[in-house]
Amino acid sequence: MNPAKSALLWASQNPRLKRTVPRLPPVRRAVRRFMPGEDVESALSVTEKLSTLGMTTIITRLGENLNDLSEADAVTAHYLRAIDHINEQGLKTEVSIKLTQLGLDLDHEYTYQKLESLIEHAGQKDNWVWIDMELSDYVDITLELYRRARQRFSNIGVCLQSYLYRTADDLNELIPLNPAIRLVKGAYMEPKDVAFPRKQDVDDNFMKCAEMMLPHIGNGLRAAFGTHDVPLLKQIVQQANSAEVPSDAYEIQMLYGIGISDQRRFVAEGHHVRVLISYGPDWYPWYMRRLAERPANVMFVLKNLF
Ligand SMILES: Cc1cc2nc3c(=O)[nH]c(=O)nc-3n(C[C@H](O)[C@H](O)[C@H](O)COP(=O)(O)OP(=O)(O)OC[C@H]3O[C@@H](n4cnc5c(N)ncnc54)[C@H](O)[C@@H]3O)c2cc1C
Repeated sequence: MNPAKSALLWASQNPRLKRTVPRLPPVRRAVRRFMPGEDVESALSVTEKLSTLGMTTIITRLGENLNDLSEADAVTAHYLRAIDHINEQGLKTEVSIKLTQLGLDLDHEYTYQKLESLIEHAGQKDNWVWIDMELSDYVDITLELYRRARQRFSNIGVCLQSYLYRTADDLNELIPLNPAIRLVKGAYMEPKDVAFPRKQDVDDNFMKCAEMMLPHIGNGLRAAFGTHDVPLLKQIVQQANSAEVPSDAYEIQMLYGIGISDQRRFVAEGHHVRVLISYGPDWYPWYMRRLAERPANVMFVLKNLF
């Protein structure tokens, strides 16, 4: 892995930096490039603006790894209210959560009950819940809770990461459940025994998994390709066209603030583009992962310093 990327991913998990860096004003200014604000209202107001450009969104409140289950109650209550606001305002946005935000490190059953309450409420409001994928240690339990939820609910999706060797097998096992899958490359620091160290292999595995998904789109699978890699997306679009999968039958998902002109171009070409908007005060580890994806982004922070 590129040393700058490794350093930024290491920094994303360093408790001391986590306490100090978010207080620095230049960093706070720079983070606005990827996050419209710390409260849900800012995410919903961007949703409104993006809908005028023909895009839908997903919102996610930043935060991971709790110390106490009462924090999971607060996160759940926050999302329940957010789902109500979305419904009242008639917005086309879904929610995405991290299971560690719902207490996964502390109590699996408690986490599942919280997840279920969110999915059930979202279903009553004609909405969806997506589960982010976190570090590889969490993949087994995340997929176990996803499968359990999928038996009762249809409005639930899960993210899979193409940097993991196991992902094609996981996908194979999930497809018979008629799942909703968001395929991404993967954002965490992972050891060589679980994840492809070479970027080209990650990209090839993304394409391989996308090809596995294409025949099932429209036959029970809801598919989302979450990447800013335009050549890769064009390859997927080409394969989808050859397989006569309509361009609006799957989603292209990108992050707020990244690939803005590409997002618009895909909409103009008739694709369904959904933008993931993050918000919340606990943005430090997430922001460091965004910097790690493109270490040149650090220049943007430095420019703010001066
Ligand atoms: C909707 C969505 C949901 C996601 N959910 C998860 C999740 O649940 N779990 C998880 O592990 N990861 C998640 N990710 C992050 C993902 O794993 C990648 O880390 C991220 O998308 C960057 O990789 P890329 O696919 O864009 O490809 P890359 O090959 O890394 O990048 C392709 C091009 O996009 C541009 N680009 C990429 N990232 C940035 C950036 N930060 N700043 C500026 N330009 C950039 C660069 O120009 C680059 O050339 C999600 C991503 C998206 C879009």
